[in-house]
Amino acid sequence: MKPIPLNRSLARRPAWLYILIALVIVGVAVVGYLYYLGGRASGRWAYFTAIATRQEIFDNYAIEPGAICDNAPFAYPIYGVPLGLWDQSYRFGHRHAGVDIFPGGEIGKTPIYAVYPGYLSRYEDWSSTVIIRVPSDPLNPGRQIWVYYTHMADQQGNSFISDEFPAGTEEVYVEAGTLLGYAGNYSGDVNNPTGLHLHISVVKDDGEGGFLNELEIANTYDPVPYFNLPFNHNTNPDDFPTCAGELAYADWAPEATDD
Ligand SMILES: [Zn+2]
Repeated sequence: MKPIPLNRSLARRPAWLYILIALVIVGVAVVGYLYYLGGRASGRWAYFTAIATRQEIFDNYAIEPGAICDNAPFAYPIYGVPLGLWDQSYRFGHRHAGVDIFPGGEIGKTPIYAVYPGYLSRYEDWSSTVIIRVPSDPLNPGRQIWVYYTHMADQQGNSFISDEFPAGTEEVYVEAGTLLGYAGNYSGDVNNPTGLHLHISVVKDDGEGGFLNELEIANTYDPVPYFNLPFNHNTNPDDFPTCAGELAYADWAPEATDD
């Protein structure tokens, strides 16, 4: 006696059909998410790149070094306009892990100051970067964090870092307001410099006394509560960050006033 044949076409069609549908859904979701990451245009950026309004932007939105918004733990590090924010996308799939502050003017002229005290290191091969270890996070005492400052060199990699911190510097204590160096445009690629700016980020500790790779946003902290400025692109996609609370100045601030 012959077994009753299974209806193969009915048994199989739903299986591969469901897999295909699932793949299409996943594919659309992935592509959509990548477009979302790569396509979050910023009105702030478009406005800044319009040269005609550049001076007006500096007049209205540049923040002074040493400015402290709403009793934030960190002071502002440089004169300039915060333009590229945390979790902003500069290109397809990219997520910016820090804040980019544009000072305008000439390369190597605008001073950069430590935003918080800590222990400064500069590796032997770092021409444009210093990192400052903060043993106790002011927002989470007992947790160690790191503050990373980069692009302090010219296109060729000639350093603008202060002579006090030569390559190979390890664990030198610095107060908030210590001059670290001057803003540059070094990218690591001599043929493709960045625009003149400071990149600063708050980097997670690796749990073994070192720091994690700050290029990965997951290895950094949202800078907003450290500065009390709207530095998160997700919640501030278009506007230039300004201090919504009371603006004060650190005692080291060049622009500090005593009235
Ligand atoms: Zn940056």
